[in-house]
Parts: sequence; structure tokens; C-alpha cells
Amino acid sequence: MNENNEKIEQFLVEGNKYYQWKIIQEEESNRIDYKIPRYPVLILTCMDPRIDVYRIFQLKPGDVFVLKNAGNVYTDDVLRSVLVAILKYNIQCIIVLGHLDCGMKKIDFHNLMNKLNDFAIKKIGRSGTNFYLEMQKFFKTFTDEIKNIENQVQKLRDTREITTNIKITGMLYDPNTGWVFTDEELRHYSYYENFAKDYRKILEAKKFNLIGWVEKFEEEIISGDELQELEEPERIGKHGEVPQIRGEVLDQEPFNVDTLEERTSKTSNFDDHNFDFGQFQNKPIPMPTLQIPKIYMPKIKVYVPVLYKKKSLKSE
Ligand SMILES: [Zn+2]
Repeated sequence: MNENNEKIEQFLVEGNKYYQWKIIQEEESNRIDYKIPRYPVLILTCMDPRIDVYRIFQLKPGDVFVLKNAGNVYTDDVLRSVLVAILKYNIQCIIVLGHLDCGMKKIDFHNLMNKLNDFAIKKIGRSGTNFYLEMQKFFKTFTDEIKNIENQVQKLRDTREITTNIKITGMLYDPNTGWVFTDEELRHYSYYENFAKDYRKILEAKKFNLIGWVEKFEEEIISGDELQELEEPERIGKHGEVPQIRGEVLDQEPFNVDTLEERTSKTSNFDDHNFDFGQFQNKPIPMPTLQIPKIYMPKIKVYVPVLYKKKSLKSE
């Protein structure tokens, strides 16, 4: 083992210690209190390290089966695992989760061929008339990640060893934005080229949809018990406006009451509080703590995008 590999191993072991420490601190948990998998789903995705299925769908360990390989392609070994998942764990749904910017459509065969050793060449099949074609077959490369999803879904559906009551569908992940596109959303495009052409429009629609989704929860939140609490503190700015006092004043010039007042009145309606500026002459200015109320709902955390002044300052 060379030195670098040893360092990587050390790095991982250190990470595991950190994880253990977090478990002790109850910031992390490895406990699973239900029968695994929690949801009867198997997701076949690419080994691309940007794809963290649990994170993308906000799942927890134990929730679903995940199979990863280069290009999320159907292979004999995928069938082996799929059958175990169905027969032993009663999986009812298989999702092929492909992704944009997949390395499997960017393989340079010429370059790759020069790196293959004799055993690999023999395995791939030198005897074939076209070695590039043999390589394509062996590595199962593709040129269109959206078409590839459809192809892999079809291959799974055509596999007679898999019973017909299993739902098999495709999804596309975009590592650049974190968005997942469903089979239904992709149906209009079927080819990468079409999708890429409408990419901006598709993202806009997704964002628009998300705003509606968040607003739905905000309404629920505002109508709840927290309404009283939210209305009570004085507002110090419209959505997301934070008075930029600390950095500006302290970094550039000695503390000056007029300047602070001038600046704060410009940036927001911060000037109507009962702050005693005199006692803080030439000292760091204690900023009122801005509270962004957190609302907890099962599995969903919503931040209300309005800032409030700390209660204590108002009452002083
Ligand atoms: Zn990939």
C-alpha cells in the first residue's frame, strides 16, 4: 500500500470517529426502528459520487435499496440483486435514476484502449471485428442519458424473471441543480437534445412549482399556534433585508452615533428602537439578534423568510 492510499484510509477512519462522536452527542443516529427497507423501493443509479440518493430524496439509512454502477445500467448482477430485493424483501417498485453529465457518455475509447492490459483486452474480445464496438458493448456506454434511462427501464420490464406486478420507472437527476425529473416530466423529451433545448424553461417551471409548494406550508404555519408569536416581535425589514451595520461601521471608521443612525435608517426601519448608543461608544456594537423562526413539520423544515427583532430589545 502506498503512502497516499494509507492517508485516504486514515481520512476515512477519522471520519468514522467523527461519526461515532456525533452519535454520542446525539447529533447523528444509526438506529433504525422499523423493518428494512422502510419503503418497498429499489433505486438503480450511477456510481457518480455526486449522487447521494438518501440526500436527494431526504431519506434515512434503512429506507430504500440503492444499487449503483457505472451508467445505471441493467446487468446480470443487477438482476441478481433485484431478485433478492423482490423475493426476500418484497420490493414493489424499481426506479432507474439516471443523471445529466454522466461520465459514461464521455468515454474516450481510444484513450481507454491504450490503458487496457492484455487480460482486459482478452476479456472484452479482441477477436471481434471492431474492437471499439466490443468495448462499447463491454462497458455499456451510451450517448444520451435520457434515452439510456428509457432503455434500462425497458430492459428491466422485458426481464421475464421479474414478475409483472413490479412497477418499473425512470427518473433523471441533475447534479447541477439537485432537481429530480420524473418519468412523466421526461416523457415529453425522450432525448437529451430536446431536454437540453428546454432546460431553462423546465427549471423555471420547477422553481415556480416549488414556490407554490412552500406557500402551501407557510399558510398552514401562519394559521397555527405560531401566529401570535410571529406577530408579536417588531419587524425590522422586509423579506430578507438585514441592516448592514456591524461590518460597515466598525471596519471603516470609529463608531459614531449619527453615522449609525443615518445608515440604519437608510437600510431599514431599524431606527425606531430604544437602543442606548452612548454606552457603546468606541466599542463593538451589540447587534440585535435576528431571529428567523424555524417551523418543524414531519420531515419538512421551513424557514419563514421574514426577520424579527429580538423581544428583549423591544421591551427595554
Ligand atoms: Zn453517471
